[in-house]
Amino acid sequence: MKYADFKEHKITRTCTVQFDKPRKYVKYLKRDFHCRCCYCNMDENLVAVPYHVEHFIPEKIFKNKKDYLKTDYENLMWSCPKCNLSKGDKYKGDIESSSRIENELFYNPVYTDYNTIFYRNELGGIDSDDPKGREMIKMLKLYRPIHNLGWLLERLEKMCERLETAIEREKDPERKRLLELAAGKLAREYVKKVKVFRAAYKGNRVLSQSVDSESNIE
Ligand SMILES: [Zn+2]
Repeated sequence: MKYADFKEHKITRTCTVQFDKPRKYVKYLKRDFHCRCCYCNMDENLVAVPYHVEHFIPEKIFKNKKDYLKTDYENLMWSCPKCNLSKGDKYKGDIESSSRIENELFYNPVYTDYNTIFYRNELGGIDSDDPKGREMIKMLKLYRPIHNLGWLLERLEKMCERLETAIEREKDPERKRLLELAAGKLAREYVKKVKVFRAAYKGNRVLSQSVDSESNIE
């Protein structure tokens, strides 16, 4: 059952320059995709691993047929490593006849607003009532708990921000002090959970000792 929208931003294409290497588009991809994975919507600043330039129509498919797709901005996506790896060379369609950047297995994240396909369930998981959307969840492994955790963390971050605003507005010294105490506790919890999240994304074992330490999150 739908609990919240899948995402809050809209992807656009603003790059009008043609480059000879996919990596040269990174600056534009980050901006146009709002520093988020086009498939799972995770924020690269939260994940804190380098994101990939992903080919919507895979290189293996267009090679020697439509080589321009290697550096055609329309075919380039900004993706987290997990989604890029899961998507791999998966493709369905007729590369010769298709003029648009289509891959029948996946909704193009720029042509299709993913909010019309996916949503967040009450546990923060990515869900869909659309048959192709459900297949995408399987293929891209969007059912992984890391996606619930990422979404919950973003909500926690928003709570911290709201609390900071409340502190700024509070005139009563005692109430301000209590709010500051609560904000401090919440911020420390957030930092700990970000560490757990990042370790889990990388597939590392999460040790309670390292999670409890108060080292800074960049
Ligand atoms: Zn992703």
